[in-house]
Amino acid sequence: MSSLPYIVGNWKMNGTRAMLAEARAIDRATARLPGVQVALAPPFTLVHAMREAVESIGVGGQDCHVEASGAFTGDISAPMLADAGADFTIVGHSERRAMHGESDAVVRAKAEAALAAGLSVILCVGETEAERDSGQAEAVVGAQLDGSLPLGAEAAQRLSVAYEPVWAIGTGRVPSVDDVSAMHRSIRAKLTAIYGEAGAEVRILYGGSVKAENAAELLAADDVGGALVGGASLSAESFVAIIGAAAIAR
Ligand code: PEP
Repeated sequence: MSSLPYIVGNWKMNGTRAMLAEARAIDRATARLPGVQVALAPPFTLVHAMREAVESIGVGGQDCHVEASGAFTGDISAPMLADAGADFTIVGHSERRAMHGESDAVVRAKAEAALAAGLSVILCVGETEAERDSGQAEAVVGAQLDGSLPLGAEAAQRLSVAYEPVWAIGTGRVPSVDDVSAMHRSIRAKLTAIYGEAGAEVRILYGGSVKAENAAELLAADDVGGALVGGASLSAESFVAIIGAAAIAR
């Protein structure tokens, strides 16, 4: 695992070619901050153009299909992402789990397909508000990890886990630093139980309403290796401020 903080922007279903100007500005700022690893996951339609437009940041997908090719109208495979210039893909985002009914088994198959295509993987997990309120947060996330992490210790070498409480995504609400620390410790214990020593190398990102104002505090929580950022990654101004906070927190 790189020891650099890893700050990843998830543009979700936002962005046309005009938005590449934001990516270029993020790229230029990243070149001036070598202590931080930065990546963007634009919509599929922008992956190739973004890859051509930037030099210092990673470019990835937001999802991939479990199969490499076939009769799957509207889907994109991991080899297609790699061919378009992607370095990585996100899998298991809560919006895909909830809106597309993706089970842990499907998320695992997607992660394994991405690794087989040579991509790195950011695998998302996180509890709902009701699960946190009923004291189930760590058990729910632990079960998601058991069911969706790609198998085999070698998988750990190109894997990051993003802890994203569902109730914190796009809401402006964030867990306490103590709760983030406790969850990241719990995820680390699970990773080392599953992958052995290699599990110690997997970066664990926090995601959910990360902004310039709270980034330093969240990044300083125990075992937070970076951030997965949605809304605040859509403009260079707000995303570069988060990258700057990561550079200082390092
Ligand atoms: C996300 O959806 O991955 C996310 C973290 O979104 P936001 O930063 O907007 O809460």
